[in-house]
Amino acid sequence: MDDVVNAPTAGSGGQIVVAGAGYAGLHVALRLSTRLRDHPEVELTLVDRHDYHQVITELPRVAGGTRAADAVRIPLQDILAERVRFIQTEITGFDLAGRRLLTAAGPIAWRRLVLALGSRPNDFDIPGLAQRTLSVYSADDAEQVWDAVDRALTAAAADPDRQRRLATVVVGGGGATGVELAGELAEMLPKVASRHGLAPGRPAVQLVEAGPILAGSSPQLIDKAAGILSDLGVQVRTNAVVAAATEEGFRLTDGQLVEGGVFVWAGGVKAPELVADSELPTGHNGRVKVDRYLRVLDRPEIYVAGDLASVTDPRTGHALPPLAQIALEEGETVARNLDAELESSPLEAFTFHDKGFVVSVGPRRGVADVAGVTTGGRLAHLLKDAIEWEYRQSVRHLRGWDPVAM
Ligand SMILES: Cc1cc2nc3c(=O)[nH]c(=O)nc-3n(C[C@H](O)[C@H](O)[C@H](O)COP(=O)(O)OP(=O)(O)OC[C@H]3O[C@@H](n4cnc5c(N)ncnc54)[C@H](O)[C@@H]3O)c2cc1C
Repeated sequence: MDDVVNAPTAGSGGQIVVAGAGYAGLHVALRLSTRLRDHPEVELTLVDRHDYHQVITELPRVAGGTRAADAVRIPLQDILAERVRFIQTEITGFDLAGRRLLTAAGPIAWRRLVLALGSRPNDFDIPGLAQRTLSVYSADDAEQVWDAVDRALTAAAADPDRQRRLATVVVGGGGATGVELAGELAEMLPKVASRHGLAPGRPAVQLVEAGPILAGSSPQLIDKAAGILSDLGVQVRTNAVVAAATEEGFRLTDGQLVEGGVFVWAGGVKAPELVADSELPTGHNGRVKVDRYLRVLDRPEIYVAGDLASVTDPRTGHALPPLAQIALEEGETVARNLDAELESSPLEAFTFHDKGFVVSVGPRRGVADVAGVTTGGRLAHLLKDAIEWEYRQSVRHLRGWDPVAM
């Protein structure tokens, strides 16, 4: 098949191809596009399966019925400058030796490649999990969760014998995603119950977690989150390890069965399968190993940013967690380094600046650890809203962004 986009193989001209228009990839493209005014020989191409950018941090609100799915889909045509060529297609693999990205639309040649393909839900090979649970990693996924909840409540109203079970939503995984989702659902379900002919107290939300909730956070933050969840009526089961997902529900390793009408898995993420099947060097959860400039080890022509990059935090010795704030910072570093290559300047090593941790727990309250201060309640939720508002503003602003400030 002919290349969709050809690339010269020498000099500074040719293609820079960014794979993935999520937090990291979109920001590489936005930050680089203005800078390329001085480099007409360079073509910048962004590839994604969707023609929109997804504000993933808002997905628990979609899954909990408090936000429309379209509100978290930002059309790329509204935010990309003309300088960026966008190709909507499925990326299917890599021809590393030939420097080509393999896609459903044909191969795309590159001189520099940026991999920013994000994550997939990790089922940890738990039997039945992938088949019997929903996830919340895209706007479509989140919409399906709310639709499934709606159907389960309707079925519960029509079946008094199985009502308690059908009207129970079980969330597996008590990290930030699971806590946010459980909180949204617990606040919304009593409000919509009567629409289905159910008593407000009938729908229930259970949160099942193998360790403590919000593992790795301060004990104060965990206490505050547990307090809000309890207030909202969420039944939290910690140290409850899911051994299998069966037709009856989650079977725990101690033999207990957790029954429900809808099961959502938010127990962790891993790299997309096509990366595992490639020759790229991978580490924990299939993330790609990179050097301090975010280039693939022994492949300096490929950068990686976002969840897909395995970057060690010098403070802990562990890989940095898969977070949007880290994806954005890595995207900035990659954009600067691609620019530095064009200008023959030294590359910049990536350093992470922790802005803190903020989790919403329902549509009105939240918990936050920022600058060593832990808060819980309305203020933390306002902080979460402010972060999301600021993110949406930054996406718009970057379109007309001034490269001098880079
Ligand atoms: C429900 C939820 C809530 C979250 N909340 C927060 C939060 O509050 N704060 C925070 O910091 N982090 C949060 N995160 C984590 C955050 O969303 C991720 O760390 C962030 O999205 C990573 O950015 P990325 O660019 O690496 O990947 P993504 O944003 O996932 O982007 C990857 C892009 O690649 C595209 N893509 C992938 N594979 C292919 C393919 N084969 N072909 C074509 N295109 C492809 C996708 O369509 C997508 O556009 C949350 C995650 C989830 C799931």
